[in-house]
Amino acid sequence: MDKAHSIVLNHDPREKKVKRASILQEHGELIASLASGVLLLVGWLLQSQSVVLSTIIFIASFIIGGYAKAKEGIEETFKEKSLNVELLMFLAAIGSALIGYWWEGGILIFIFSLSGALETYTNNKSKKEISALFDLQPETATLLVDGMEKVVSVGELEIGDRIIVKPGERIPADGEIIKGETTIDEAAITGESLPVRKGLKDNIFAGTININGSIVVEITKKSTETLFQKIIDLVQTAQSEKSPSQLFIERFEDTYVKLVLLIVLLMMVIPHYLIGWNWTETLYRAMVLLVVASPCALVASIMPATLSAISNSAKKGILFKGGVHLERLSQLKAIAFDKTGTLTKGTPVVTDVYVKEGVNEADLLRKVASMEHFSNHPLATAIVRHYNLQSDRPLLDVETIEDVTGSGILARFDGDEWRVGTKDFANQTGDEEANKESMVFKNAGKTVVYISCNREVLGIIALKDTIREETKKTIQFLKSIGIKTILLTGDNSVTAKAIAEEAGVDEFVAECLPEEKLNHIREFQQKYGLTAMVGDGINDAPALAMADVGIAMGAGTDVALETADVVLMKNDLGKISQSIELSKKMNRIVKQNVFFAIAVIVLLIISNFFQAINLPFGVVGHEGSTILVILNGLRLLK
Ligand code: ADP
Ligand code: MG
Repeated sequence: MDKAHSIVLNHDPREKKVKRASILQEHGELIASLASGVLLLVGWLLQSQSVVLSTIIFIASFIIGGYAKAKEGIEETFKEKSLNVELLMFLAAIGSALIGYWWEGGILIFIFSLSGALETYTNNKSKKEISALFDLQPETATLLVDGMEKVVSVGELEIGDRIIVKPGERIPADGEIIKGETTIDEAAITGESLPVRKGLKDNIFAGTININGSIVVEITKKSTETLFQKIIDLVQTAQSEKSPSQLFIERFEDTYVKLVLLIVLLMMVIPHYLIGWNWTETLYRAMVLLVVASPCALVASIMPATLSAISNSAKKGILFKGGVHLERLSQLKAIAFDKTGTLTKGTPVVTDVYVKEGVNEADLLRKVASMEHFSNHPLATAIVRHYNLQSDRPLLDVETIEDVTGSGILARFDGDEWRVGTKDFANQTGDEEANKESMVFKNAGKTVVYISCNREVLGIIALKDTIREETKKTIQFLKSIGIKTILLTGDNSVTAKAIAEEAGVDEFVAECLPEEKLNHIREFQQKYGLTAMVGDGINDAPALAMADVGIAMGAGTDVALETADVVLMKNDLGKISQSIELSKKMNRIVKQNVFFAIAVIVLLIISNFFQAINLPFGVVGHEGSTILVILNGLRLLK
């Protein structure tokens, strides 16, 4: 992505202006915070000269530093009808000033605004990953109308329109190449920096860069539905979705703040009568309590860490639709994998064709290719490709066509019913000879597709898909950390077994229809606990939705991408291991943060009770711990 991005920067002069304007916006909080710090220092230096002047400067420091957070706190209180730490800090600062501790109240505001600026920085950082994506989306396209070129805005493009994309231009929409060939840099979508060759009938994606050829492209998606747009939507929802632990802390915040306020109110009175502190001491201790008991650090324990981890993984081509999925990954007990397109590359090739006696192989293949032409199943694509390599006779017209997900394809030619797909689908019992023939293929890990006409088997086609290079390593890693690995496939059990052995998975379940995949996931959840599903096809979508974490391969179908919780943009299974490790690291950091935040609060409350700390110390201890947990969370950016 970095490379693609830099190309765009060089080409777009508007970029600079936008950047300058946003610096103030982006760093506004930080600037205000630093300004309040400087004023604070000036006020402190002037204290001995003029009390009035220094007080005025202190007030200015309060307002400049506290404005953003106070506004946020008050707005949130009204909007969510719940109390928050911002409010506590606000009260503590004003309280300190009222009892004459301007300087201490000022430090409180200064450090609080500083930690706020730090939090904003984290948010912006992960938003930037997305706006970097936005920059990659061109605004205009060159439309071909009756052979003439016309520049139109991307939003006007309709499915079926033809556009021309010249060398060096960014692709404005998702489509299929209908003329020409070229090399395309798909880094924006896949994160893979190596350019790929694309020719006739290949799909290309909005946001990617056409490097050297001139191509004519037929639009296949509206600009609002491109893969690219989906990625952006995805990352955006990820940011607004809060993880359960974050939600817990936020619910807890309201109760906690009320409790603190109540105790502080009591502490403003009781010690005077009970322990004999004078009034100033009592009020002073109550203010210190208000500061140190605030759960600022606790509230900041999770969100910055989660956002850092999400934006870090987005950069590496792993998109999380929310922090919760990242949180869960490290607790997985089992992972189920689809076969084609997931454990394997999803680009099978036809290796063998067997036809019954008396059947013309060329004619049969032509019929089959004419049907499969309508399906976008990887097996179908392979069969059509195989046919095109062998023959230049055009495909036949079919009367009706039905793509039965997870089983095969059904068509009518001249009143005959033709089926291509699993044995069950083509003909319940199969055919003795064909069955025998198929065993050799299946044992070699090949997928066997049956062809039948009016339920009579006429032949079989064997296809071999290769296991992805990283499959074995990923499976091994998962097993080594105690996660059960299962192959879940619609293919026959002999092939499934061969592939399962090759990949090294613990178990396999074969001949699953799409809804059965879902039932098996439910079963694994009961048997093993938290279960993930990794898949790519429409047939995997129900299982992806059912699983505790649904992981889709980025090259998969749209439905799979939409139902999944996590998308692997580079189609690289190894990213699963990386994500699990990141999840572990994140959970560890969150735990450290929560523990540390609570420990500091308890320690400071006790010290305050024994009059062992003063207000400045309380402020620094409390705010310091807040900044530390945020910084600890930022470690996940690396
Ligand atoms: P997987 O679970 O391995 O991704 P699917 O559920 O997509 O496999 O398909 C299961 C089986 O159904 C395939 O192995 C194949 O035999 C058959 N099948 C599905 N669609 C087609 C098709 N379009 N053409 C031929 N066979 C198909
Ligand atoms: Mg599949």
